[in-house]
Amino acid sequence: MKTPQLLNYERDRWTAGDSAVEIPSAIDGTPVATTGSGGLDFGAMLRHAREVGGPALRKLTFHERARMLKALGLAIMARKEELYELNYQTGATRKDGWIDIEGGAGTLFSFSSKGRRELPDAHVLLDGALEPLSKNGTFVGQHIYTPLQGAAVHINAFNFPVWGMLEKLAPTLLAGVPAIVKPASASAYLTEAAFRIMIEADILPPGSIQLIVGGVGDLFDHLTGQDVVSFTGSAQTALKLKSHPTVVRESVRFVAEQDSLNASLLGPDAAPGTPEFDLFVKEVATEMTVKAGQKCTAIRRAIAPAEHLDAVERALAERLARTKVGDPRAEDTRMGALVSLRQRDDVRARIRELEAAGARIVSGNPDAEPPVLGGAFLPPVLLRADDPWKTAAVHDCEPFGPVSTIMPYRDIGDAIALANRGKGSLVLSMFSHSPEAAREFVQGAAAYHGRMLVIDRTNAAESTGHGSPLPVLVHGGPGRAGGSEEMGGVRGVKHYMQRTALQSSPTMIAAITEQYVPGAPKRIIDVHPFRLKMSELHIGDTWTTPRRTVTIEDIEHFAEFTGDKFYAHMDEEAAKASPIFNGRVAHGYLLLSFAAGLFVDPDPGPVLANTGLENLRFLTPVYPGDSIRVELTVRAKSIKSEETGQVRWAVEVFNQRDELVATYDLLTENIP
Ligand code: NAP
Repeated sequence: MKTPQLLNYERDRWTAGDSAVEIPSAIDGTPVATTGSGGLDFGAMLRHAREVGGPALRKLTFHERARMLKALGLAIMARKEELYELNYQTGATRKDGWIDIEGGAGTLFSFSSKGRRELPDAHVLLDGALEPLSKNGTFVGQHIYTPLQGAAVHINAFNFPVWGMLEKLAPTLLAGVPAIVKPASASAYLTEAAFRIMIEADILPPGSIQLIVGGVGDLFDHLTGQDVVSFTGSAQTALKLKSHPTVVRESVRFVAEQDSLNASLLGPDAAPGTPEFDLFVKEVATEMTVKAGQKCTAIRRAIAPAEHLDAVERALAERLARTKVGDPRAEDTRMGALVSLRQRDDVRARIRELEAAGARIVSGNPDAEPPVLGGAFLPPVLLRADDPWKTAAVHDCEPFGPVSTIMPYRDIGDAIALANRGKGSLVLSMFSHSPEAAREFVQGAAAYHGRMLVIDRTNAAESTGHGSPLPVLVHGGPGRAGGSEEMGGVRGVKHYMQRTALQSSPTMIAAITEQYVPGAPKRIIDVHPFRLKMSELHIGDTWTTPRRTVTIEDIEHFAEFTGDKFYAHMDEEAAKASPIFNGRVAHGYLLLSFAAGLFVDPDPGPVLANTGLENLRFLTPVYPGDSIRVELTVRAKSIKSEETGQVRWAVEVFNQRDELVATYDLLTENIP
């Protein structure tokens, strides 16, 4: 049978490259596909992204783009079995594939939901509140984010062919930026298959995504300051790419997720026999064997109190010996193959490097016979470095496979110094039930690590684990780890947007951002807004209420009714004596309740429920005899589904002198 040729997707069409390199199966070395991108016009691909994809994506709001992400995730899930079949060829078991394939779709879902909950249904993202810049409030400042007008170039590592693509695409597309994806050659067939599913689902506007299977030719020569390169792979390739003259000259944004020497610490309190000791051993073994240790987050350095190192070695060796290595398609296989023979040879060479530096193998034989002839198999290999300060290579040399080194520490200060000796990592975990040890360790080490977990008997069962980057948390690390961040919810979206400090009048800022900002003109409406569907409400529509006078009886009644008898409401002398009040004042909660009483329209209608308040501030005290009124303004709207949506109302409560008494955002669930 002829080996299938992978296709590039350039300028909205599938194209075969005129060079062809065979990709062997990790299981037995037989060819799975050929790949090549020779002959592509990379400059034209970038122009297509900028001129066709970018404008189409930027026309959509954050919410429209968020809905596309969900549809893409559903398309992947509907055809996931096709991907699982190919996944085996990368050497991965079904469980490994779950992280990659369903974890990838899950990342799309997570960004979709974050986008609809945390971003406006608009084109501009506001960053922080208005900054007052003038006495009368006619000139103010507002930071805004808008999408970059270039393309994102995503260069991915081989180990997560689907998740690696999707964790970069999700924030990029949500930001409104088109992308060109370049997977690592060794597993490009799986990325191509997932990419094809997304194209065939016909969800994205033309030009939104393109694919290069093979080298990137002269692509980097055509980059501009509106483009972003997001790279995952080795430190060596990262250095080469980020020092490309065009990247340097044009100040091209460069996000680098590169190799790092992640560590895990057994706390000083976690002696053998404690739950934390067992959890530590289990986690180190898991991190060594999931994905055959080819995880950027895997534990390469397992650091334990010197007096417990022998016990750790024994427990780990015993556990690793039970790990069945074999054909990833077999049900009893716990660990499959590395991605390629080249990768296996590289890992063997790194193990030798560590041995030469003074570490010794205490479990596993790197030269063991492979369970399948021609396959890239390597059993888990555990090394031990008794003097981790002398054996400096353990903090620098990354065998990207099922390999980890155990090493001792003397005290918590020594443990911190060892963890930080890796010069920056993606993740550092600690297994300890001692809050004091955890505080000292995290405060001493956090600056060197992008993510930290403290695991103990109370949270282990629900822990997401050392090795799992999560879409809602940042993934990345300082120094050796690349000095960048990805994901982290909306934080990751901002990597593809420009922040601009906008200065003008509130009216202009409201018009530019399509969102109501305090001080912008309001449109007084004469139909109660609770009687209007979301489609009939406009940003800036305002309902003004009649006044209500607050009496001393109201305050006393409220105090009795709720039990809130704080001195400021009940004790005239004490209230007067305070530096804030001139006498007894109304409860803030009373004002909120009266405000609701003033603006609520009671009958069933388009407003289904009150779902919360945000940004509440009490600004001016209300004394008995004062009268209040409310202005209720539509600040933002977002449709969640065909049945429901959310309206964010700016609520402003004024007294009889038109001084602002209280302000907050009210969130309601509405009929669209
Ligand atoms: P790699 O050799 O650096 O390759 C990474 C990517 O860069 C691949 O797509 C590769 O494509 C591409 N590439 C290589 N040379 C290039 C060039 N001159 N121009 C443009 N692209 C180029 O790394 P790898 O072996 O695939 O991945 C393993 C490494 O990645 C490990 O060190 C691991 O720690 C790191 N990693 C880090 C993270 C993280 O999130 N921090 C995640 C996963 C892996 P080809 O395959 O076609 O050469």
